Amino acid sequence: MEVVNNNYKHGEDDDAAVTALAACGSYILEMVLYAAVELDIFEILSRAGDGARLSTSDIVSRLPTPAADGAAVVLDSMLKLLATHSLLICENIGGTERRYGIAPAGKFFANDDGGASFCQYLLFRPEGASTVPRLKDVIVEGGNLSEKLYGKSYYEHLNCNAEISNKFNEAMRSHSAVLMKKVVKTYRGFEGLSCLVDVGGGTGTALATIISKYPSIRGINFDLPHIVNTAPYYNGIEHIGGDMFVQVPKGDAILLKVRTYFILHNWSDEACGKLLKCCYKSLPNKGKLIVMDSIMPNTTQTDIHAMYASQMDFVMTAMFGGKERTHDEFQDLALHSGFGEFKVVSYAYGMWIMEFIK
Ligand code: SAH
Repeated sequence: MEVVNNNYKHGEDDDAAVTALAACGSYILEMVLYAAVELDIFEILSRAGDGARLSTSDIVSRLPTPAADGAAVVLDSMLKLLATHSLLICENIGGTERRYGIAPAGKFFANDDGGASFCQYLLFRPEGASTVPRLKDVIVEGGNLSEKLYGKSYYEHLNCNAEISNKFNEAMRSHSAVLMKKVVKTYRGFEGLSCLVDVGGGTGTALATIISKYPSIRGINFDLPHIVNTAPYYNGIEHIGGDMFVQVPKGDAILLKVRTYFILHNWSDEACGKLLKCCYKSLPNKGKLIVMDSIMPNTTQTDIHAMYASQMDFVMTAMFGGKERTHDEFQDLALHSGFGEFKVVSYAYGMWIMEFIK
């Protein structure tokens, strides 16, 4: 048989058409990734080790539950797709045989030593959010996506549904655990602090990670009374309940950290101003407010960091009536609340760390 290789190169319109088709099929990656996590694929490859390469049948034999006859064909197709999205490594070893390993991005779906991963974050999604037509209603009729889906704001929806609220909190907690490990490795701004207040700190997990690295810091975890009442005990952390729009505890630094959703990006400029002024009042001269949030690029870009920031911006605007802010918008918020200096200090996994200095 003669094999003809035309050395065919794609034209620009091919790239454009396939970009459009791949966007239509974005639900496919979501479906495959979800099933791969449920089937422990990343965990299996991670346990095999960084350099290890497993065949599809090896992987099938290690699944948590036995696979049906013939399922390896579908599984292999899933693995190839995950490799095209840089989550797995795929090596062709002759003929149609392939072996798979874990790629750096895929490791975020395997538990590390401390049990932290993005799995819970992936598995959580607002129920019905993929009901695409409702989004059109937001544009045509006004209101936000949460009102269309649940008839109320997302906060109210969580407040009256304990099961969803628990899943949501677990998703945010697992995301935060991965992020905070990176933050304490790369951001030096906690060094030398004696008292750090985490405003809207939830149950205190972020502060606990910081204090495990800096045990001389006294931590104050501040949140609504019903949240801190259920918070676990941590050595070196005092839980205080109250309303951050009225008064926050004093410390030589204050932390405001988004938990993927909530804190600053879910509040209007007016509400943020109120909160920032409360923080300003509770800081000593030259004290700093450490803010962790996405920063939207000033101009639209297409790299993966800009795409992620844009996803967050969409969720905040469509679902919560908030927004992600640009560098200049953060700077304005800082200066209008009385702070003398605004700095963007570092970046960790899609989140910027900013300092507002009094
Ligand atoms: N910083 C935490 C949680 C962020 S979620 C983390 O990164 O995991 C936002 C937090 O703000 C929630 O825990 C919520 O209970 C708290 N919050 C909302 N309104 C508040 C208020 N008026 N006073 C104090 N805390 C508030």
